Amino acid sequence: MALNHTRQIQPCEALSEKLAMVENQELRKAGLKVTLPRVKILQMLDSSQDRHMSAEDVYKALMDAGEDVGLATVYRVLTQFESAGLVVRHNFDGGHAVFELADGDHHDHMVCLDTGEVIEFFDPEIERRQREIVKEHGYELVDHNLVLYVKRKA
Ligand SMILES: [Zn+2]
Repeated sequence: MALNHTRQIQPCEALSEKLAMVENQELRKAGLKVTLPRVKILQMLDSSQDRHMSAEDVYKALMDAGEDVGLATVYRVLTQFESAGLVVRHNFDGGHAVFELADGDHHDHMVCLDTGEVIEFFDPEIERRQREIVKEHGYELVDHNLVLYVKRKA
């Protein structure tokens, strides 16, 4: 029994150490000092199924994982991550600000008004039309943020 237990623990610890090394690199690259709360929060954003998390979501997930990081610290660290360009903050209507890692390609969002669920999408036609419309007005597109507020069809 004891052997089994050891077997299960070891790969897990090795993995989390490896993960921590990756997070440490990410933090240094972003010009942030490596601190335990920063590593834990970055790990949580990296490993969570949910790509868009509020500060409360991160706080609760850390608590569930047995990590003792206060909500105020989570807020502060997420704001530092945002300034450092590690995460993007979205202020969707009618909800808390959510954060996602700034690691992926461009995409837009749908927010379900009933559940608060955030759905990502990318449409080349919409992207193209936006650039055209901007051009027609004599401008060039620098950035955009498209959010569709949706409800599941009854
Ligand atoms: Zn997203």
